[in-house]
Amino acid sequence: MTNFTDLNLSEPLLRALAAEGYEKPTPIQAQSIPSLLAGKDLLGIAQTGTGKTAAFALPILQKLAAHPERAAKGTCRALILSPTRELAAQIGESFRVYGKFLKVSRAVVFGGVSLGKQIDILRGGVDVVVATPGRLVDLIERKALTLSKVEIFVLDEVDQMLDLGFIHAIRKITGMLPSQRQNLFFSATMPKEIAGLANNLLTDPVRVEVAPVATTAERVNQSVIHVDPANKAKLLVELLKDNNMTRTLVFTRTKHGADKVMKSLSTAGYTAAAIHGNKSQNNRERALAGFKAGKILVLVATDIAARGIDVDGVSHVVNYDLPHVPESYVHRIGRTARAGADGSAIAFCTPEDRGLLRDIEKTIRAQVPVVEHALGLKGIQQLAPNFGWNPAGKDKPAAKPHHRGQGPNRNHGAGSGHKQAGGGKPHGGKPQGQHQPKRDGGGAQAPKRTSGGSWMSELGKRQG
Ligand code: AMP
Repeated sequence: MTNFTDLNLSEPLLRALAAEGYEKPTPIQAQSIPSLLAGKDLLGIAQTGTGKTAAFALPILQKLAAHPERAAKGTCRALILSPTRELAAQIGESFRVYGKFLKVSRAVVFGGVSLGKQIDILRGGVDVVVATPGRLVDLIERKALTLSKVEIFVLDEVDQMLDLGFIHAIRKITGMLPSQRQNLFFSATMPKEIAGLANNLLTDPVRVEVAPVATTAERVNQSVIHVDPANKAKLLVELLKDNNMTRTLVFTRTKHGADKVMKSLSTAGYTAAAIHGNKSQNNRERALAGFKAGKILVLVATDIAARGIDVDGVSHVVNYDLPHVPESYVHRIGRTARAGADGSAIAFCTPEDRGLLRDIEKTIRAQVPVVEHALGLKGIQQLAPNFGWNPAGKDKPAAKPHHRGQGPNRNHGAGSGHKQAGGGKPHGGKPQGQHQPKRDGGGAQAPKRTSGGSWMSELGKRQG
C-alpha cells in the first residue's frame, strides 16, 4: 500500500502532512503526485472530498520550492483557477497548511472585496495565485499581474466553472499563458464540451479518475421524506431535535429561501446562518467560520455558495428543496461523509418535486429510501409505483438509508420520531444503526449553543 514517503515528497511536506494527521495518501493523491512531480499534464475526474486539493498542491509546492527564485514583480509561477470564492479560499488555505515549512508565497484573489489590496500584493510578485476567473481578468486588465511566467496552471472544478458562465474568462486567461507550462485539469463530470476543452488544453495527460458520482453517494446514509411544502419548515425544526444532528448543512434552491429557513430556525432557538450570493464576503466568511468552529449548528446555503465548503464533521445534509440538476444532489450530499467519514442526507420531497427525485435516483442509480414522518405525507409507499420513482429497477439496490437515533442519549422527542417506510434495504455491508455521527463528546468540534450548558441539554429544553 502506498505511503506518502513512497511518493518522493520532500521532508518539509511530509512534516506538514504528519502535522495535519494525514496517514496515507488518498487514491487520487497516490495516482497523481508521482506524474505531477515528473512534469506531466493531468486530467483528473474527481470531486471535492477525494483529497484532490492536496493531490495538486503538494507537487506544486515541491516543484516551486526546488527552484526557489522569487516570482518577479507582477508575475506568478503557479496559477489555480477556482469557480467560487469559498473554494479559492479553501485552496489558498491548503497551500498555507501544506507549505508551512517551505518558503512559497501565495495570494488568493476573488471578487466581492476591494481591488486595491489585491493589486498591491500581486504587483510585488507571488509564487502561487489562487483566483476566481472574473476577478483575475480584472486584475490582469489593471496591470496588476501578467501570466507570462506561469509554470503550472490548474483549472479546478471545470464543470462548475462552465455552469457559472466562466468559459470566456477561461479562454481569455489560457490565451495569456506561456506555451511552455504544466497543465492540470479537474472536473467531477466529463461531458463532451468539457472533454473538448481538456483536449485543447492538455498535452498527453495522465488520466486519473476516482470515486464516480454514484460511488460517493453510496457512502452517505440517504433518506427522503415526502412532505407538503407548507410543512417543510416545521419538519426541519422537528428533525433538528435529533441529537445526532451535530453539524447540519441545509440546501435551499433560492437565496430568499435560504434567508427564510434561517429565520425560522433562529425563531425556533437554533443557532443558524445563511450563505448565498447576496451576502457580503465578510458575512459569508463569518458564517463559515462559525459553522467550522461549532458556534453555528445549522448552515443554510444555496448550491453556489456551498461549493467548496470543506468542513469536517458535517453530520447531516438536508435537501430542504431538491435541486433541479441531479448532479447537484450528489455534490450536496458529498459535503457530509468527507474523507472517508460517515454522514447522513435527508431530502424533503414535495408532490411537485417527485420528477426531480426520480432524476436523482437515475443519476445515483439507486432508490433513496423513504422515511415516514408525523409531519410528512401519509401512505406514500403505496403511491410509489404509480409515480414510478424507482427507476433503478427492482434488481438495483436502494441507497443506504439514513439511520437516526440508534445510539444512547438519543432524543426521541415529541415530533422527532419517524420510521423507515420499508423498501429501504441498506447495502454496503453496514448493519442498521451502526452509523453514529460525532456528537457533543467531540469537545471543540461540537456545536455550541448560544447560552451555557451542554448543547444536548439545551436542545432538550427547546422541545415543544
Ligand atoms: P478535497 O477533496 O481536496 O476537498 O479534500 C477533502 C478533505 O480531505 C479535506 O478536509 C482534506 O483536508 C482531507 N484530506 C485530504 N487528503 C487527506 C489524506 N491523505 N488523509 C486524510 N485527510 C485528507
